Amino acid sequence: MTEIFTGSFTQQEPIPDAGIAAALAVLQSGRLHRYNVAEGELGQAAELEQEFAAAMGAKYCLAVASGGYAMGTALRALGVQAGDKVLSNAFTLAPVPGAIAAVGAVPVFVEVDEGLKIDLDDLETKIGEARVLLLSHMRGHICDMDRLMAICDAAGVQVIEDCAHTMGAKWGDTWSGRHGVVGCYSTQTYKHINSGEGGFLITDDPQIAARAIMLSGSYMLFERHLAAPPVEAFADIKLDTPNVSGRMDNLRAAILRPQLRNLTAQCDAWNARYRVVEDGLSDCAGLHLITRGPKERFVASSFQFLLKDWRKSAIRDVLQRCAARGVELKWFGADAPAGFTSKYDSWRYANPQPMPNTDRILRGVVDMRLPLTFSLEDCAQIARIIRAEVGVVWQAGAAEP
Ligand SMILES: *Cc1c(COP(=O)(O)O)cnc(C)c1O
Repeated sequence: MTEIFTGSFTQQEPIPDAGIAAALAVLQSGRLHRYNVAEGELGQAAELEQEFAAAMGAKYCLAVASGGYAMGTALRALGVQAGDKVLSNAFTLAPVPGAIAAVGAVPVFVEVDEGLKIDLDDLETKIGEARVLLLSHMRGHICDMDRLMAICDAAGVQVIEDCAHTMGAKWGDTWSGRHGVVGCYSTQTYKHINSGEGGFLITDDPQIAARAIMLSGSYMLFERHLAAPPVEAFADIKLDTPNVSGRMDNLRAAILRPQLRNLTAQCDAWNARYRVVEDGLSDCAGLHLITRGPKERFVASSFQFLLKDWRKSAIRDVLQRCAARGVELKWFGADAPAGFTSKYDSWRYANPQPMPNTDRILRGVVDMRLPLTFSLEDCAQIARIIRAEVGVVWQAGAAEP
């Protein structure tokens, strides 16, 4: 009998009851705007910021409207201006180069390596071209952060971390988002906590935090922030920083607070699923698993493997055969971007130069979501299906001539 998987790769878990109750209370109060607080009330957004800052061991936190907004705000708060160059990953998602373009700056793309991390040798070659690196931990793959920070520190390059896929992950004993000067997160539905849209920015730098709060649209109400620097930090900048509204509201914050309390357990649940898929695909001829080092304490909310140096038509076959059995795989090697699989050469506004190494790797990258609505048995079944279909196509001859 041919197994068919019937689960949905885009079905998230429901919002926890405590989040629904808190959201209802906000709706009933009518005080959805973060600065609309009753006497003695701190406000859900301000409390969430305090809790996220504490969870990450950061001094300051700002909750915002999206992860993309957090990155754009971080760039502005660091003083990046129109025409400046900003280093970033060639393998990432569209909001990353989009945030650079949104401030009028120009991305300088750095190649991806076979571990799907930023290629540190290529970074070293290009480090002199910019004074900021917007580093994306794409799909939760964390590069050697010790070497990356050494390269950047030696060149005086400031690092902003895009932690859209690494909320709750660590490199060694340090939280992802705490190596660079700013860490940015997304709370969009497909990330590690879900408010539909939303994001965070964390930093220990009072000037950057003050500028980010002003930028997000604080109407001189910055004293209502609980994870903010002292008011003196605002004195010099409050009249020189434009308001680019992108605040988070109390409703989203209310939904997020109970999820944040449960983040560690959720991360463990993702990794348990990841390990089942990984085991199920080990020693599968033609399929290359991504190896991860001991310091990379990742959170696997998705799964990637490589069909390295396969013919495109053979990869398309695998995708079709898996789809016919209910397993939805995405591919970063298609000629035209579909859904979220756009890649550097689809970002024409950034005038990208050809990157043959990145092209070769992305041609083989297959990507799959692992929502927590999947059981461990679901994951085992998905792996059996992929293994079988990769096997059929591989045996028919899939390698590039
Ligand atoms: C989702 C995502 C972001 C931020 O996305 P928003 O939709 O703007 O919240 C940033 N980087 C990566 C790699 C992402 O996947």
